[in-house]
Amino acid sequence: MALTATRVVVDAPQYSGVGVALDYLSEQPLAPGTFVRVPLGRREVAGIVWPGEPDAQPGVELRPVTAALLAMPALSARWIELVEFAARYYQRSIGELALAVVPAELHRLDDARLAKRIARASKVRVEDHAPDTGDAISPPLNDAQAAADAHLAADAQAGRVATTLLHGVTGSGKTEVYLREVERVLAAGGQALVLVPEINLTPQLESRFAARFAGRRIVALHSGLTPAQRLRHWLAAHLGLADIVLGTRLAVFAPLPRLAAIVVDEEHDASYKQQEGARYSARDLAVWRGRNEGVPVLLGSATPSLETWQQAELGRYARLALPGRIGAGALPRVRLFDMNTLPKVKGATSALSPPLLDAIETRRARGEQSLVLLNRRGYAPVLHCTACGWKSACPHCSAWRVFHKLDRTLRCHHCGVTQHVPRACPDCGNADITALGRGTERLEEQLAAALPGARIARIDADTTRLKGALEAQLGAVHAGDVDVLVGTQMIAKGHDFRRITLVAAVNPDGALFSSDFRAPERLFSLLLQAAGRAGRDAQHAAASEMWVQTWHPQHALYAALRAHDYAAFAASQLREREMAGLPPYAHLALLRAEARALDVARAFLQAASDAAGAPEGVAIYPPVPMSLQRVADVERAQMLVESRSRPALQRFLAAWASQLHALRAAHRGLIRWAVDVDPLTI
Ligand SMILES: [Zn+2]
Ligand SMILES: [Zn+2]
Repeated sequence: MALTATRVVVDAPQYSGVGVALDYLSEQPLAPGTFVRVPLGRREVAGIVWPGEPDAQPGVELRPVTAALLAMPALSARWIELVEFAARYYQRSIGELALAVVPAELHRLDDARLAKRIARASKVRVEDHAPDTGDAISPPLNDAQAAADAHLAADAQAGRVATTLLHGVTGSGKTEVYLREVERVLAAGGQALVLVPEINLTPQLESRFAARFAGRRIVALHSGLTPAQRLRHWLAAHLGLADIVLGTRLAVFAPLPRLAAIVVDEEHDASYKQQEGARYSARDLAVWRGRNEGVPVLLGSATPSLETWQQAELGRYARLALPGRIGAGALPRVRLFDMNTLPKVKGATSALSPPLLDAIETRRARGEQSLVLLNRRGYAPVLHCTACGWKSACPHCSAWRVFHKLDRTLRCHHCGVTQHVPRACPDCGNADITALGRGTERLEEQLAAALPGARIARIDADTTRLKGALEAQLGAVHAGDVDVLVGTQMIAKGHDFRRITLVAAVNPDGALFSSDFRAPERLFSLLLQAAGRAGRDAQHAAASEMWVQTWHPQHALYAALRAHDYAAFAASQLREREMAGLPPYAHLALLRAEARALDVARAFLQAASDAAGAPEGVAIYPPVPMSLQRVADVERAQMLVESRSRPALQRFLAAWASQLHALRAAHRGLIRWAVDVDPLTI
């Protein structure tokens, strides 16, 4: 029998002796996108047949493909293009990325077992089938929603494929615009992909979609699924059985044969950027995928990323605005409380000004709720000995261990090391150790002391560790069993609280003067999102307020916040970025290196810089230790690469990658290195 040479990608880093793909022999021609098992060295590994001509080197004997999964249709050419683009753009090997974004279960199945799984996926399960509640009636639209909907409908009618920013203030009814877009897509026989930033936000959106699309199949794709569930949902997408796929960033790679629209909710959210392995941006890939597959992409946000805003300003993205809240809901009035005006009392450590406590108390008396935001968990960020100056440093990281009072521990939030709080200073024996600063745990304690009888709930990563804990706490808030809700950014996003009329940010100033150029953008977004939790119910809207306690009430960011004026904030930030040569006016990549000794990491980066020479149109900055230099006894350094031209940066990175692989061997003690393209923090 004649054997056919076949190209296969496997999960191995590029340049590690494995090129873009390996060649194998198969008894029959295998379509690109077919899952196979192939021998690699002494192992047998999963692979995917890839398009392209085999290398056909004379004298090299090819090994046969061990098995092919033919029970399932091959992945499409469009899917292969998406993975190839992402791998190239984010500097990973194709096989590494391709096999990471499909369910791991798939690697373990043979054809017969796969056929059984497909049969199971084809059977509609109650859990991922929208209930027939009859709640499928669309509510009437307000004028702005109707205009946005008409614009999108006209695009669909004319077959125009656009990327559209839906800029709507919190509570303006963006979801209803998504629902109508999806409705159009389903009516025309298409599939819709809806991305959300966080797994916590999926159940809420899922139930809204389920209520609207009774009888349609909706599947979720996120990291909270069991491997079997993930495979079943992924198969439902790939086989065209699911009409709507709702998921977090990984879902951008869901194979969808009838894909007809992509929605990216809260497009500005940092969670769309993967921080490990292939550091891709699901938002950016969604836009690319939309263009490549000729389907519209809808990006929704109250505080768009400056990258997206600039694209809209330049006219590359269409822009639709929802400037007001639906119903009679009104945006809360933003009040700045100048902390400088508080009389200085020695030893007064409370984060809460008397007027704010009064405002919370007034709400409570009326049966309304308040939300207090502090983006730092734990009791106090550091313990301090007043006698000798000892501080609770982590022995393994360049960070303080955080004091958690409830279980009397010192915990490092970077490496996880946990220890009981010492009874006395470990250096001098002084028994008087002080907690410096405050986190949510201490804020909760101070609120309880100041507001006796108030029912206070705290929501942060510590109180929601157990499965179901977050849902239970949110349920109590919704039921009105809570007067004051304290928490981190977890409570600022997405939740539709009906009785909250006061939102307070007690100490947000830190981000104003951060060395991270995106910190003001993140702070503005967080505060505006948090403000959006207040006054969502028409009954209480008029009296809803946001309080910001600040030492810098004159700051331009707060002026824009008071006016709820995202456009003014974006314009001033973009001017600053342009002058400073920062994104979106420049394109960045980081080369990061980790080693047991900082010298090793730096030497690797220096050698990488030397190897690069002086590439045209690309600036390479000197290596520097990362701001959090040591984590879990690993020293970390980085080097910034910048260009005004994205193609120039991409060309350079592609050429540089092979040099980096070659360099690695010469730097003993180097643990790992990685390239981060379009990094969110530098
Ligand atoms: Zn001491
Ligand atoms: Zn640590």
